[in-house]
Amino acid sequence: MTKLYIAVPCYNEEEVLPDSSFKLLNKMNQMVSEGKITADSRIVFIDDGSKDKTWEIISNLHSENEMFQGIKLSRNRGHQNALLCGLMTLKDRCDAVISIDADLQDDINVFDEMVEKFEGGCDVVYGVRSKRETDTFFKRFTAEAYYKVLDKMGAKIIFNHADFRLMSAKALDGFSQFKEVNLFLRGLVPMVGYKSDIVTYERSERLLGESKYPLKKMLALAFEGITSLSTKPIKMISRIGLAIFLISIVMLIYFVVRFFMGATVQGWASLAVSIWAIGGLQLLAIGVIGEYIGKIYLETKARPRYIVETYLDDEN
Ligand code: UDP
Ligand code: MG
Repeated sequence: MTKLYIAVPCYNEEEVLPDSSFKLLNKMNQMVSEGKITADSRIVFIDDGSKDKTWEIISNLHSENEMFQGIKLSRNRGHQNALLCGLMTLKDRCDAVISIDADLQDDINVFDEMVEKFEGGCDVVYGVRSKRETDTFFKRFTAEAYYKVLDKMGAKIIFNHADFRLMSAKALDGFSQFKEVNLFLRGLVPMVGYKSDIVTYERSERLLGESKYPLKKMLALAFEGITSLSTKPIKMISRIGLAIFLISIVMLIYFVVRFFMGATVQGWASLAVSIWAIGGLQLLAIGVIGEYIGKIYLETKARPRYIVETYLDDEN
């Protein structure tokens, strides 16, 4: 039987927690009574420095029912770091951890299937969305285009999978050797290796509260994904540079030929445009390289990715 821990990052989730904790508890109790998981399995909420009553709710849940535990981070570090904290803190306490968002948009009823696949020998089980009907057209279109771009850039990611997955203690141990500060978990997990499988589910809408991933954070995460998994953008710069140089040679030949034919090309406009175009491209190129240098800067500092303030576990 599997000793299962559920890791739930929470940032300002006072509205959804009462409902989500109730549903999670029912699900876990059902799995315990069906003999699928051990009775000392746990649901662990990671409070990512919330400013509302989230931590209060978590500590109350913990004192009411031993199934609930809580980890409080010292401040808000963002979803990826909060999740990492959960995974790393829990990996030595159980056989497998399932990570899921606090709003339970992902289907908790595939927990059973995930655990079955784990017991069947899989170390990573990815939750994959079967369709994206509940998303707006904009989100679906951008998300799917994004997965394709990542794929082109050579990053191995699972299509339509976010951060809903089961990882065994063994896979988490392997994962703990990844020390990077710039985190894009869903791109790193496949690098761990081991036998993996997917389960499909339909994602529902967020019922209460609002998304903690506004467009700005989402773009930042998307950008993080590309730059932390691939160096292709830098290579693309050299290709563009080469292409522009070749074009300039062609232009040069054209102008020289015209000159000797007695028809010198006039042109302030062509000159001005090319200066601006090349200047802009150069700045863009420096910017892209700068992004990577910024990452190196952060990585060399190797600051802690999260700091745990309190862990409400079975002992306290
Ligand atoms: N979250 C977090 N820290 C943050 C922002 C979000 O821990 O700084 C958590 C949030 O509580 C939720 C999960 O990350 O459990 C996903 O956020 P949300 O559901 O708002 O994102 P969406 O589903 O809209 O992409
Ligand atoms: Mg959500």
